[in-house]
Amino acid sequence: MKAAIVKEFQTKLQIEDTPKPTPGAGQALVKLEACGVCHTDLHAINGDWPVKPKLPLIPGHEGVGIVDAIGPNVTAVKVGDRVGIPWLYSACGECDYCLQGKETLCHNQENGGYSVDGGYAEYCLAAADYVAKIPENLSSVEAAPILCAGVTTYKALKVSGAKPGDWVAIYGIGGLGHVALQYAKAMGFNVVAVDIADEKLELAKKLGADITVNGKKEDPAEAIQQQIGGVQAAISVAVAQVPFEQAYRSVKRGGTLVAVGLPHEDLPIPIFNTVLNGITVKGSIVGTRIDMKEALDFAARGKVKAQIETAPLSDVNAILEKMEKGQINGRIVLTFDRM
Ligand code: NAD
Ligand code: ZN
Ligand code: ZN
Repeated sequence: MKAAIVKEFQTKLQIEDTPKPTPGAGQALVKLEACGVCHTDLHAINGDWPVKPKLPLIPGHEGVGIVDAIGPNVTAVKVGDRVGIPWLYSACGECDYCLQGKETLCHNQENGGYSVDGGYAEYCLAAADYVAKIPENLSSVEAAPILCAGVTTYKALKVSGAKPGDWVAIYGIGGLGHVALQYAKAMGFNVVAVDIADEKLELAKKLGADITVNGKKEDPAEAIQQQIGGVQAAISVAVAQVPFEQAYRSVKRGGTLVAVGLPHEDLPIPIFNTVLNGITVKGSIVGTRIDMKEALDFAARGKVKAQIETAPLSDVNAILEKMEKGQINGRIVLTFDRM
């Protein structure tokens, strides 16, 4: 099978023929139809984070395809089912976090396209109990970005504590942010969209943002405090420290900053303001299987629709370069009918 493989950090992916894997106990072999390109893949390829991915690595955690074969002891899926293989590739199912329905915190989880091979390939193994079932009326290409960008931002909004009618700010209108703002609207929030590129803000307006702010032209936190007195929740999905700091300053008293983007810098939090203003700062990591089901349902009902450009696997290095420069508007999804 053809796959895009990371051999060494900070080098181009090699597109190679590699043996098609055989599903073991509890596993399904999935023939991919689509796989979104997430900024996390870029972090993996660059070895950006303290916990490094395996090498060699086939990245990709927004893969959607058809179950081609199953290993022993598989009951959750059958050959022919259409499934998605997310970042939460598997969890132990037995620890306190798993038992509490917080499986994204499981210490014994595997991560698709990071600790195990992912969807930048014609075939990929999946843990049958952890795949997402793709609703019939969503195409594989449409479903792909929901598998990470969708579920992650939906979950971040869920844990933000914001209620319908509240204002929320989304910092970074990229792959995650442009679906975040659609979930936010569908959940009944008023939305401020912040980015540093005008074309991203144009997209945000088209997708229903109530206010847009260009962080290169004005201080978004000041603009937000002035115009609406702060937001109940600010979700930062941008990949830099500055927008996190601005997002922190955008929330009103009692509000919450939800950290989702993963720049390698730290965020100094002013203790005095956090205490006096009763601010909550929390991290949010992807979503559980039930979050995934809900996130896909929003998309299946047409409430959330990623802006997608498709490309063949052979374009992957050029796509990653564009992502690094912040030049992708929406999400790029790899397809496997042409290589
Ligand atoms: P992306 O590259 O598509 O989007 C990033 C966006 O941030 C771009 O639109 C860019 O213009 C914008 N941006 C850059 N600097 C900015 C600034 N100063 N102010 C406002 N906006 C700014 O990336 P993506 O695929 O959306 O991923 C975003 C981040 O989220 C990555 O770090 C990724 O690893 C992380 N992520 C986290 C989770 C999680 O579970 N927490 C899941 C998926 C992705
Ligand atoms: Zn992702
Ligand atoms: Zn567990």
